[in-house]
Amino acid sequence: MDREDGSRAAGASGQAGRETHGFQAEVRQLLQLMIHSLYSNKEIFLRELISNASDANDKLRFLALADPALLGNDPELKIRIDFDSKNGAISVHDNGIGMSRQELIDNIGTIARSGTAEFLGQMTGDSRKDAQLIGQFGVGFYSAFIVADQVTVETRRADAAETDGVRWQSDGKGEYSIEPLLRRERGTRVTLHLKKDEAEFSDPARLRNLIRKYSDHIAFPVLLADAGQPEVEPQTVNTATALWTRPRSDIRDEEYRELYKHLSHDMSDPLAWSHNKVEGKREYTSLLYVPATAPFDLWNREAPRGLKLYVQRVFIMDQADQFLPLYLRFVKGVIDSADLPLNVSRELLQKDAGLEAIRGALTRRVLDMLEKLAANDADGYAGFWSAFGQVLKEGLVEDAQNSDKLAGLMRFATTRSEGEKQDQSLDDYLSRAPQDQDRIYYVLGDNHAQAAASPHLEQLKSRGIEVLLLTDRIDPWIVDHLEEYRGKKLQDVGRGQLELPGEAGAATDNALDEEYRPLLKKIRRTLKERVDTVNVSRRLVDSAACVVASGQDLAPRLRRMLEASGQKVPPTKPILEINVRHPLVTRLSAETDNVRFADLSHIVLDHALLAEGAALENPAVYVQRINRLLLDMEKAGVSRGVE
Ligand code: ADP
Ligand code: MG
Repeated sequence: MDREDGSRAAGASGQAGRETHGFQAEVRQLLQLMIHSLYSNKEIFLRELISNASDANDKLRFLALADPALLGNDPELKIRIDFDSKNGAISVHDNGIGMSRQELIDNIGTIARSGTAEFLGQMTGDSRKDAQLIGQFGVGFYSAFIVADQVTVETRRADAAETDGVRWQSDGKGEYSIEPLLRRERGTRVTLHLKKDEAEFSDPARLRNLIRKYSDHIAFPVLLADAGQPEVEPQTVNTATALWTRPRSDIRDEEYRELYKHLSHDMSDPLAWSHNKVEGKREYTSLLYVPATAPFDLWNREAPRGLKLYVQRVFIMDQADQFLPLYLRFVKGVIDSADLPLNVSRELLQKDAGLEAIRGALTRRVLDMLEKLAANDADGYAGFWSAFGQVLKEGLVEDAQNSDKLAGLMRFATTRSEGEKQDQSLDDYLSRAPQDQDRIYYVLGDNHAQAAASPHLEQLKSRGIEVLLLTDRIDPWIVDHLEEYRGKKLQDVGRGQLELPGEAGAATDNALDEEYRPLLKKIRRTLKERVDTVNVSRRLVDSAACVVASGQDLAPRLRRMLEASGQKVPPTKPILEINVRHPLVTRLSAETDNVRFADLSHIVLDHALLAEGAALENPAVYVQRINRLLLDMEKAGVSRGVE
C-alpha cells in the first residue's frame, strides 16, 4: 500500500537514479482482474491511450491560453501512433501537458479515486459482469497490460526543463521502475511491447481501423507512422474535429457512442443522447447522454459528476457541475459555450447571471429526452428506471418548476405490478381508474411485502382499486411535494378519512358508529394514553383493527425515519380503527371481565401497530398480556376437559 515502503533503489541495475516501486495493493488487484475480465474486449486499450493523449493535449491548450510560451516551437497539438511490426511494438505520443515524476507516481502507480476498495468488493468473479464493472470504473491506462508484457512511459511536463524528463517501466506484475530521462520533446510517449499473441496490434491496417473507430470524434489529428520507415510522412487517420461541432445529420450513431465512452469511461452504450446548438442570448452547443448503467459510486457524494466544459472548442474543465441540478447527476456530456470568457473559473461560473437560464434549458432537454425514451423504448426506460429512478425521484423534492414533467417520468410499484417491480406510471394508473375516482391512492411501507399486506388496503383491494406501494426512503418526501397529478389528489390510505370513489365526503358517524358508540367509548377510555380516538373502520375487510394518522399528522413512516436520524418529532397519538365485522371485535364487545377487556384492547392496538411496521413501545407488557390470555385459554381448556 505504502508507496515509500514498497520502493527500493535498484542497485543491481547500476543506473543512477533508477528506483523500483511496488504498486499500491489495489492497483495490483485491479490489474489482475482487468487483464482477466477484459480480455475479450482487449482492443479498448487503444481507446484509453488515445483518450489520455487527447486529455493531455486539451490540458496544455488550456494552460497555453494564459501562457502561450508553453507551446514553444511546437504549437500544433497532435497525437501520433507509431507501429513497429518487426519488433511487435506500438507507441502513442502526444505533445500535451506531460507529467512530472511525482505526477507519474501518483497517477499511474496508485488509484486515487475514493471507493476503490468498495468497488473491488463488488467484483463477482463472473468475467462478463466484472467487465461491465471495470468499464465503469475507468481503468484507463492499465488496460495497456491486457496486450502488452512491458509498458514504458516517457514524459516531460510542458513547463519543465529537458533534463527533467522521466521514464516509467513495468511488466504489470507488481512493480514498476522510475528513472530520470533527458527528453527533448514535451508531452508523453507510451510504448507497448506486445505480448506474443497480440502482434495484430502492430499491423497498420488493423490500427487504422481502430483509430477511426475510437478517435474520429477527437479534436486533434491522430497520425499513424511506421517506425521502420521514418522517411515516410505519417498520415492523419481521423476526422480531427470535435464531434459536437459537426452537424447532427453528418454524425453516425457509432460516433456518438464512441464520444460517450471517451467522456464517461463506461464501456456500455448510452441509452439516449441529445445534441443541440442554441443560438440567441447565450450561444452554446450541448451534447448530453443518459447512461444505461449506474456507476458503482452513484451514491458517493464525492463521485465525479457534471459536464465537460469547452469554450469555443477549447477544453476548460471537467466535472462542471453547475449546468445541471443534482438530481440529474447521472447525465454525462459536453457543453461548448460561444460566449463564456476563456478564463472562466468555477467561481466565475457561479456568479454568471446567464447560467441559470442555461441550466434550466439543459434540465428540460434531459427531461424531454427521458420522455421520448419512455414513449419509444419501454425496455430501455425500465432499465433507466432501475439504474437511476431513485436519483430522479429527488427531482420531485428539489425542482418544483418541473414537477409535472418529473411526475410523469416516475414509475411505481402498485397493487397491479409484476412482483416488486416499479413498472407503472401515474398515467398508467389513471388510465385504469374508474371514472368517478378522483384520488390517487398510495400506502407507505418499509418494504414491499409489508406495504402490500397493509391492512389499510383491504377495502380498496376488495373493490379492485389500485394503490401505489411506496417503499423507497425518499417516497414520504415525494408524496409530500407532489400533492396531486393531473388534478387528482394523492391520498395516503393510512391517514385521515378514507374517501372511496363514489362516496366522496361520506360521513363516518353513520348508523354503525351509532350502534357501536358504547364499545368505541369503552376502548377509548381503556387506551386513552395511547390513542387519540377510536372509530369504526371503513378500510378493513380481514383485519381486526388498524391505526391511521390524522389528516395533519406526519406519516408514521416519515416519523420513524426522522426519529431514527435523531430528530425531535412532536408526539402524536394515532387513531385506532376497528373492524366491527371481525370476530375478535365481537369477542371484545362481549367481554365482561375488565382485566381481559383491557388486555384484549391493548393487544388489538399492538397488533395494528406491528402490522404497520412500528415497534412496540413496551414489548414486555405486550408479552405479559398475551401470556395471560394464553393461560386463560388453557384454564378454559382444562375446565372443558373436566366436564
Ligand atoms: P483517467 O484518464 O480516467 O484519469 P487513466 O488511468 O487513463 O485514468 O489515467 C490516469 C491519469 O494518468 C490521468 O488522469 C492523467 O493524470 C495521467 N495520464 C495518463 N496518460 C497521460 C498522458 N498521456 N499525459 C499526461 N497525463 C497522463
Ligand atoms: Mg484515461
